[in-house]
Amino acid sequence: MSAVAIDRDRLAELTADELESFRERNPASRALSARAQPLLLGGVPMNWMNKWASAHPIAGAPGAFPIFARRAQGARVTDVDGHDYIDFCLGDSGAMTGHSPPQVKAALRSALADGLTYMLPTAASIEAADALSERFAVERWQFTVSATDANRFAIRLARAITGRSKILVFNHCYHGTVDETLATLDGEGNVVARPFNLGPPVPVAQTTRVVEFNDIAALQRELACGDVACVLAEPALTNVGIVLPADGFHDALRALTREHQTLLILDETHTLSASWSGFCGLHGLSPDILTVGKAIASGIPAGAYGLSSELASRVERDGSLGATLTEGIGSGGTLAGNALTAAAIKVTLREVLTPAAHRHMLSLGERWALGVREVIARFALPWHVTQLGGRAEYHFHPRRPANGSELAAAGDEALERYLRLSMINRGILTTPFHNMALMCPLTTAEDVDRHTAALDQAIAQLFSAASPNARVDAGGHQ
Ligand code: PMP
Repeated sequence: MSAVAIDRDRLAELTADELESFRERNPASRALSARAQPLLLGGVPMNWMNKWASAHPIAGAPGAFPIFARRAQGARVTDVDGHDYIDFCLGDSGAMTGHSPPQVKAALRSALADGLTYMLPTAASIEAADALSERFAVERWQFTVSATDANRFAIRLARAITGRSKILVFNHCYHGTVDETLATLDGEGNVVARPFNLGPPVPVAQTTRVVEFNDIAALQRELACGDVACVLAEPALTNVGIVLPADGFHDALRALTREHQTLLILDETHTLSASWSGFCGLHGLSPDILTVGKAIASGIPAGAYGLSSELASRVERDGSLGATLTEGIGSGGTLAGNALTAAAIKVTLREVLTPAAHRHMLSLGERWALGVREVIARFALPWHVTQLGGRAEYHFHPRRPANGSELAAAGDEALERYLRLSMINRGILTTPFHNMALMCPLTTAEDVDRHTAALDQAIAQLFSAASPNARVDAGGHQ
């Protein structure tokens, strides 16, 4: 079968059908959404929640409302209309552990009984740090309330250590709402604010250098300017879609950052899906600072950053830097590392995200990727599947992407929305951002196969009445 084309009229018609069925299936969510409008900004407690069924119109199809959740257990979410969903979004990684693992429930019950937050260290915080050190090749930890904060504080520390002002990030990265990272390259290679970046305090070119992922020459050129305190990078991009590092890229990144006395911060928040010890452990990477968040406390708000022992000694030995460990402002937070969080991190890392759990997630990630590849082949679609351990995703792009810009250019919001709505209407949640799925320790092979079958069905419908002169190539670029 040669590559087929997608009929945009058919896509619009099917999206309208899915939207209608979505509205009919979800009267309770619809009613809650109406109640929320005058009380919650944008009708949701956090703006990303509007991404699900797309609150704004796309390609002429009107906006919808998010489903409201009632409860979630393991790999399942139940909504207020009583529908059960197989959850491959898993709170965009916050519930990589599965929802409310029993071991965490038990630990939290006893933490609740003992008091939650004292601004005093607990023994559990040492064990949580020990569990982090066991997995990741850094040793001295601080806890934060989110991954965003972990990145923010790591950047501040890097500036303080190096005395340099700028950071370098890769184009189309996401590391949370850290001002310096919300930067991108325009068509002429200038550093500009990302579209929809809310109120940047200063023009981002003042704080940030940006290069394409996997572009070693550009990295070398920008680091040679000598003003870069740190490179902040995901070991593989995951937020524009998954972009894996090319062979030799991490070696070059490490060598160049060392050569230019720039610190290397690797953000494992999403790439923890790669293995028990994340992407860094799997590939033997050695950052100066490692940041992580989301899943490490099974959904209790938590982040952490860890320093290599060499960097930690440098900080501790330096008079004024050492003083910031007690006197410093600009890092920390009242609730960070509290008793509840420390207990949650400890039990999550020791008892839930175990090596066996990661092996299970990896094998289901493979099964998911294989199933989707078969569907793509069956319809001869010029699409590609990328897997990162227990996380996998299909792109409307014919081959493994080299960088974030390639993937961003292949985006097709209308097609993505149709596929996401079709999945939701068939009881399957994937991430609301792109076509990504994450496995948890309680995801089953049957869950994965149900996704494959539902995707097959959604795509078959697209082609079942395609007009002979379909107007646009499958996905992207129109
Ligand atoms: N780092 C990465 C790689 C992320 O993907 C995200 C969120 N998607 C963050 C940091 C920020 O996480 P949070 O919003 O929980 O602070």
